[in-house]
Amino acid sequence: MGKIIAVANQKGGVGKTTTVINLGFALAELGKRVLLVDVDPQGNTTSGVKKERNVKPSLYEALIHDVFIKDIVYPLRDGSSSIRKNIDLIPSNLDLAGAEIELVSTFLRELRLKNVLEPIVDEYDYIFIDCPPSLGLLTINALSASRYVLIPLQCEYYALEGISQLLKTIELIKKGLNPSLEILGVLLTMYNRTILAQQVLEEAKRFFRNKVFNTIIPRNVRLSEAPSFSQSIIEYADDSSGAIAYRELARELIQNEQ
Ligand code: ATP
Ligand code: MG
Repeated sequence: MGKIIAVANQKGGVGKTTTVINLGFALAELGKRVLLVDVDPQGNTTSGVKKERNVKPSLYEALIHDVFIKDIVYPLRDGSSSIRKNIDLIPSNLDLAGAEIELVSTFLRELRLKNVLEPIVDEYDYIFIDCPPSLGLLTINALSASRYVLIPLQCEYYALEGISQLLKTIELIKKGLNPSLEILGVLLTMYNRTILAQQVLEEAKRFFRNKVFNTIIPRNVRLSEAPSFSQSIIEYADDSSGAIAYRELARELIQNEQ
């Protein structure tokens, strides 16, 4: 069965989208079949890997208008790329902002995404869900549809602020909607060689213990440039520290499974 991983943290700008894209591509490079699901109305995962904007139908149409899942899965295949042939995208755009409200009145509103994804789960080794920076209904749908949650933490002041709220939400979802949900790991992002970053790392290890990934993502300007070319870091800057780190994370993930 496909391994569904929500990448969540209600704090904005901590590296959720960057992780979904680049971990996804690093696994695809290793021959894994990968699906990226953009559950953020900002559509950053979508624009980060695909040049065409405002792709329709998108996740919105599937969640709200029952458009069949196979009609919203877009291959990222691109000529000769041996990585892109392994990776598909379910895109989003601003329409999805409306879904948060429209979902409120639907039957089993927290499980819409889970039910939408059901028919294609087995076609992938990994499915990554990019969450918006909130704990609203879209994030609840993502967590209800997932086996695991990966939490990026930015190495900055207040990195752990709000974490208890996120953990409480995860516990609530485990109790009610999705008993098999587990924390896959906590990923330190935008790490640099400062005392502050070192302190955040130590604090995260105290708090999350062995749940902190050994791999740490450094601050790397290449990672922030790549999305404007709709490219993963592996395509944009193959030998950058960012590409090396996300490849290492992909290997760590596979190793942890064994
Ligand atoms: P949001 O909450 O708005 O969805 P996010 O958690 O998805 O944000 P990203 O969009 O991945 O965060 O990252 C925020 C910004 O930081 C982006 O401009 C991104 O390119 C940049 N960024 C992410 N990771 C790194 C890194 N390791 N080094 C340098 N820049 C990074
Ligand atoms: Mg994002």
